[in-house]
Amino acid sequence: MQMQSIGRKNFRVPSEKEFPFRRTVFVYGLPPDATEDTVKAMLSTFGSVTKAEMDKGPDTLDRDIMANLMKKNRVFKLLSKTIDAQPMTFCFASSSSEKDVQYTCVSCNKSKYVREGYYRGAEASYLFCLQCAALRADETLKLYETQRPRPNDQESLRERIIGIPPRAVSQCQTALCVFASQRQASKCVYVRSRLSDNGAFATHYHHYTKLKKDIAIELLNSKLPTKTTPQNATNIDNTPIN
Ligand SMILES: [Zn+2]
Repeated sequence: MQMQSIGRKNFRVPSEKEFPFRRTVFVYGLPPDATEDTVKAMLSTFGSVTKAEMDKGPDTLDRDIMANLMKKNRVFKLLSKTIDAQPMTFCFASSSSEKDVQYTCVSCNKSKYVREGYYRGAEASYLFCLQCAALRADETLKLYETQRPRPNDQESLRERIIGIPPRAVSQCQTALCVFASQRQASKCVYVRSRLSDNGAFATHYHHYTKLKKDIAIELLNSKLPTKTTPQNATNIDNTPIN
C-alpha cells in the first residue's frame, strides 16, 4: 500500500490477525511508566486481555491520535449523586478470595460482582457499578458544558466538576489491547470512553483506524508540493473501514 511511511511517522495498518477488529481497543492517556502487563491488569476488570502492545514512542501516529482525542472535554473524576457530590474511587478486587463477593449498586439496585469493579463513595456502602458510573460521567460532562463560568473560574470549575488530567498529553502513552470477546471490548469502551482510570481512556478500533487515516492524509497533504489532490484524499478517507 502506498501510505506505508510518511516522513518519520510510522503509518502501518495492523493486520486483522494481529488485532481482531471487534475485540481490539485503543487505550490512551496511559502514564509514562505503563507496561503491557500493567495495561492488561488495568483492563482485566472488563474481561481477559489476550494481548497488549504499547506504541512505539512519541513520534508515532498513535500519539497524534491521542492528542486529537484528548482535545475534547473529558471526565477525569466521578462525583457521587449525593447533595455534597463527593469524588468517588474506582475499586477493583482481583484477589481470588473476593471473586464471588457481590454488592448492590445504589444507582440501579442491581446485584453485581466486585470482580467487575465498582466506584466507591465516602461511605463504604455507597457503590456504583461501572455502567452507572459511565452514565454519571455523561451527566457531569453535560453539566460542565452547560456552565457559563467567568473566564477566571474556568479552571476551577473544570477541576470541581470533571477533574483535570493527572499529566500532560505529551507524557502519556497509548496501547492496542485485544480482549477475549467482543462483549468485553464493548464494555471496556462503554465505560472508559466516558470516564478515565488514572487519566486513561479507551476507544473502539474502528474509531482509531478512522482517526489514523484522517491524520495520515493531513500529513500527506501537508508534505505534498502545492499541487494537492483533494479528490484522492477524499477517496482514501471514504474507504470503508470494514
Ligand atoms: Zn448500577
